[in-house]
Amino acid sequence: MGKNGNQPFPLTESSISRHHASFHLDEKSGKMILRDEKSTNGTYIKAKDGTFKRLYGETAVSLNTIVRLGAKHTFAIKELINTPPPPPETVDISKLRSVYEIYNSNKMTLEAKTSNIMMLRIASMSLSAIVVNILTLFIPQDVMDQTTKVAIQAIGTVLALVLSWWLVDMKNKDLIRRKDQNERYFRKNYCCPKCGFHFGTRIYDNILAEGRCPNNNCKCKFTGK
Ligand SMILES: [Zn+2]
Repeated sequence: MGKNGNQPFPLTESSISRHHASFHLDEKSGKMILRDEKSTNGTYIKAKDGTFKRLYGETAVSLNTIVRLGAKHTFAIKELINTPPPPPETVDISKLRSVYEIYNSNKMTLEAKTSNIMMLRIASMSLSAIVVNILTLFIPQDVMDQTTKVAIQAIGTVLALVLSWWLVDMKNKDLIRRKDQNERYFRKNYCCPKCGFHFGTRIYDNILAEGRCPNNNCKCKFTGK
């Protein structure tokens, strides 16, 4: 018995040790022994006068003996025998398949787009410079002198550069936002429906094949397609 024990009920209270006490039933003679396993906060047995007496070592007990482990948790010995262990709960996780697939397909699309951003920057820079230069070619020579034309060309190139850089930047920000959204969606939804444990990068089919929650404290079994 204890936090790590195999008793039929959970013992989670902080004053209970991992290996707190042990119980042995001799099936032939029906003799029952309770032993304190050098627990930190003690094993107690309820005496006839209603007070709890600390147990050192071991003692014979009966079905109606009341035991206290640590500060609070009390139970009758018969609860150790009569309470069947809770059956593991089975949870259908089928809907997590689409969560996993949507997340990964979004991730792939967004990553492909991100790798295009650098290309887009270079392309938009060269393109805007070229466009401005071509446009100034169409300004008739007699309308303005060479100096004005060069000045317009320079200003136009800078403006076009700033504009194209800004446009790519907007696109990039939108990508970052969508990536972030996708990650949040995944963290929130790719979880055990019972305990909320996030499955991380585990592949859906592997989780399904294992058939149980990867969180060791969660005893639920998984089923699904
Ligand atoms: Zn779980």
